[in-house]
Amino acid sequence: MILRIILIYFCVIIKIITDNDVDFSLLCKKCGHQLTSVKHLTIKKSPYSLKSWNSSLLHSGFLKIQNDKYSYLNQKGLTMIQLLENPMGHRFEVANFVDANVRMLNETKSLSNTWFPNYKWTICLCPQCLMHIGWYFESIVDYGDYFFSLLVDNLIDDTFSEELVIQPKLKMY
Ligand SMILES: [Zn+2]
Repeated sequence: MILRIILIYFCVIIKIITDNDVDFSLLCKKCGHQLTSVKHLTIKKSPYSLKSWNSSLLHSGFLKIQNDKYSYLNQKGLTMIQLLENPMGHRFEVANFVDANVRMLNETKSLSNTWFPNYKWTICLCPQCLMHIGWYFESIVDYGDYFFSLLVDNLIDDTFSEELVIQPKLKMY
């Protein structure tokens, strides 16, 4: 009996450890296409951000990683979200990622009205449904320095998308 309890205890510990290593995919809210994942999160603060705060970015909110190898997250497993405004007065809440599976609207990048000085930008679309998903920023100073600012309202995590699966109705005869 005691051996059984010890075995269950160890199974729970192993599950907690492996859960902390789980990577969460972030999907297009409209079509479910995989766009990026939380492991690609990075912190890039815009000097023009109107506001910034910490959020788990996950619908389920259970990302509780207390491990400093995740440099993009603070100790509570939260990352930085920023509120940015374009010249037309439209406001966007974004999180930044070092990698994303998106389609660029233009090959040519622009430096005008950039939110990140010394970074030129273009609009990013979901490659599957073409919804506006954010912006790509590329440094004009350091070759190979780039990141993606993605609209947090247009992302869902894969744990949330599983909850959205609609159960078929029972046939009534
Ligand atoms: Zn999509």
